[in-house]
Parts: sequence; structure tokens; C-alpha cells
Amino acid sequence: MDHRLSPELEELRRTVEEFAHDVVAPKIGEFYEHHEFPYEIVREMGRMGLFGLPFPEEYGGMGGDYLALGVALEELARVDSSVAITLEAGVSLGAMPIFLYGTEAQRQEWLPRLCTGEILGAFGLTEPDGGSDAGATRTTARIDPATDEWVINGTKCFITNSGTDITGLVTVTAVTGRKPDGGPRISSIIVPSGTPGFSVAAPYSKVGWNASDTRELSFSDVRVPAANLLGEEGRGYAQFLRILDEGRIAIAALATGLAQGCVDESVKYAKERHAFGRPIGANQAIQFKIADMEMKAHTARLAWRDAASRLVAGEPFKKEAALAKLYSSTIAVDNARDATQIHGGYGFMNEYPVARMWRDSKILEIGEGTSEVQRMLIARELGLAG
Ligand SMILES: Cc1cc2nc3c(=O)[nH]c(=O)nc-3n(C[C@H](O)[C@H](O)[C@H](O)COP(=O)(O)OP(=O)(O)OC[C@H]3O[C@@H](n4cnc5c(N)ncnc54)[C@H](O)[C@@H]3O)c2cc1C
Repeated sequence: MDHRLSPELEELRRTVEEFAHDVVAPKIGEFYEHHEFPYEIVREMGRMGLFGLPFPEEYGGMGGDYLALGVALEELARVDSSVAITLEAGVSLGAMPIFLYGTEAQRQEWLPRLCTGEILGAFGLTEPDGGSDAGATRTTARIDPATDEWVINGTKCFITNSGTDITGLVTVTAVTGRKPDGGPRISSIIVPSGTPGFSVAAPYSKVGWNASDTRELSFSDVRVPAANLLGEEGRGYAQFLRILDEGRIAIAALATGLAQGCVDESVKYAKERHAFGRPIGANQAIQFKIADMEMKAHTARLAWRDAASRLVAGEPFKKEAALAKLYSSTIAVDNARDATQIHGGYGFMNEYPVARMWRDSKILEIGEGTSEVQRMLIARELGLAG
């Protein structure tokens, strides 16, 4: 098994690395500080084809796969996580459900604009009363036979990319009936932005990811055509479990990027900053800390690339995706804490990238399945579930 990048992926990595350093790094601090969505950077990412990376060319994509997406996410997150999560959510949660489960008409309608970044898609699963326990969905959708429309009612919370000026759709999960045992039949339904009765709250005030868009959504008798059902009625739960399994690989790549960014910044600072007449990096305590950070970022990279390779090869990847997400998010938090420590007081100042990385790291242990949920999945794969 070889986890080194092919020449094409290495070229993609270099292109995104250059973009992150030349375009994202000089501007993102300002957007972050003012909690603004970085439209100009996102537009440029669209022009580069990043939103279409894992989709076939016939839908306007780049013909790549999850490895390509992971490589791009890692390089973006080395510099900034808000733009990386905008890409991750746009691709894995916004466009991928339509590619995997959409009819040909739905793919043709949405994918070309999603792939170019002209519009962003979002995925609304989490509700105020439950995220980890996604089967407890309370949002409902029923067919009105008179008009052949779904009528949707409910609330979703913490939804990424759901309220920008370029958000085109949100796919929501809703209870559409009951199984013989009384359990909910959950389905996924595409709701275009601007549909009457669909309202988007003001952005949350967040600890991190401050240049990314996260909103609460409410649905009050929202009507969409019956043809907006995504995939089979009652299969929404199984669909989003698959979507989240794949998304975990993307989040693991993003977390690896943040962890590596902490190493990059720490190496630079350890050489520049002097204390007691010599660079702080001349102290073994600092060297060892950075060596450990590098070890963790490297190992996280092997883990997400392993999970992505299995996915691309069509092999089972559920356990490996959970392992990669659990490990990379844990070490991203570790590295962010250590990088901040290495920067001393400056590490607590927002103008230093490590301060942003520290704030952005915590959510990685929560979003797209908490660390506890990853442990539950791994234990289940080991045959331990009760
Ligand atoms: C910035 C941001 C962006 C997000 N983007 C999206 C998005 O685009 N789409 C979307 O649908 N969701 C999104 N989310 C939601 C996110 O996926 C959920 O917050 C996450 O899944 C956890 O759900 P919860 O917040 O309801 O926590 P809960 O499920 O209430 O969990 C609370 C705590 O209890 C623990 N816990 C729960 N059950 C168990 C158990 N059985 N055993 C042990 N521990 C347990 C959890 O691990 C956690 O520590 C986003 C969240 C944030 C903060």
C-alpha cells in the first residue's frame, strides 16, 4: 500500500497550497475578525474547480475523487479552517447527496452550479433536540395529494452554508411516515432557498469558524414538489449515514491540515522568537513538543488517506473513516493547544494564525459526529455493540 500522492494529486496539492498562501492567508484574518463570509475567496475556489473535485465532468466536475477532495481540504486548513469547512460542507453535505441519490433530472438541475461554486448546497440533519441521535428527527413532511407537494414543518440547527447569498438549496431530513413497529420513516427532501415558509435565522455567534456560515432554519408549511424527494421515501436515515461516513474522511483531512498548520507556524516562530539570548527553538522542550506535533499530523494524514483509498477502491471504510476522524480531531486540538503555548502571549492574539487555529480546533471533535459517536461506531465495527 502506497499513501504517497500520484503526480496529479501532488500537482493539485501544490496548486491549493499556493492559493492558500497567496490568496487566503493575507485576507482571511479580516473576514474572521468581522465574522464575514469570504465571498471573493469562495468565488475563486469555485473558479479553480474545487467544489467539483470529486464529481464527473459531465456534471461540471473535475472527475476526481475523495482523495483529491481530502488533499485540497488539508492544504486549505493548513492556513484557514473557515474556507476549508465551506468547501467540505459544500461538497460532502451539499452536492454529494444529490450526486449519490438524485435522479438524473435532479443531478442536471443542481450539480453544474454546485460544482462551479455558483451556488452552495447545505445539509440539514441536526435539530435543536438532537444531533448525535439523528433518528430522533422531529421535522415532518407529508404529501398534499391535492397539489402533489411535500408540506414540511420543523426546525434545523447549526446548518453550515445554509444562509449565504449564494446558498441554492438545503437538503433536509424529515419524518414522512411510520414503520410497522412505530419507528419513524425518515426521508431527504430538497428545499430550494427562498421557498415561502423557509426562514433562515441570523448567523450564530461562534467560538471559531467565524468566516463560515452557520444558521438555524425553520420550516413552516413549506411546500415543494413531490419530485424534490431525494432518493427513496423512508431511506433518508440510511442515506445520511453513508453521507456522514464519507464526510468524516473529509473532516479528518481538514483536521490534519489544521494540525499541520500548527506545526508550520510553530517551526517558524520557534526560529524567530528569542528568549534568554537564543531562539526558543534551541530548547529541547520546544523541539520535542514540535516533533510530537509533526508525528501526530503525519499519522493523521496516513489515517485519512487510508480511509479515502478504501472508499475510492469501493471497499468497506466505515471503521477507518471513524478512526481517522477521531484521531485527527483529537490531535488537531492537541496541536492547536501546543502551538498556542509555543507562541506565548502572541498565541492569544487573534492576529496570529495559531489563535485562529486554537479557536477552530474544538468543533472538529463535535461536528459530523462527536468523538463519542466515533468511538461508538468503532466499537460497533468491532462487534461490541449491545
Ligand atoms: C459549527 C457547526 C456546524 C455544523 N454544521 C452542521 C451541518 O451542516 N448540518 C447538520 O446537520 N449539522 C451540523 N452541525 C451539528 C453537529 O453535527 C452536531 O452538533 C453534532 O452532531 C452533535 O450533536 P448535538 O450538538 O445535538 O449534541 P448531542 O447529540 O446532544 O450530544 C451532547 C453530548 O453528549 C454526547 N453523547 C450523546 N449520545 C451519547 C451516547 N450514546 N454515549 C456517549 N455520549 C453521548 C455527545 O458525544 C456530546 O458530547 C454543526 C454543528 C456546529 C457546531
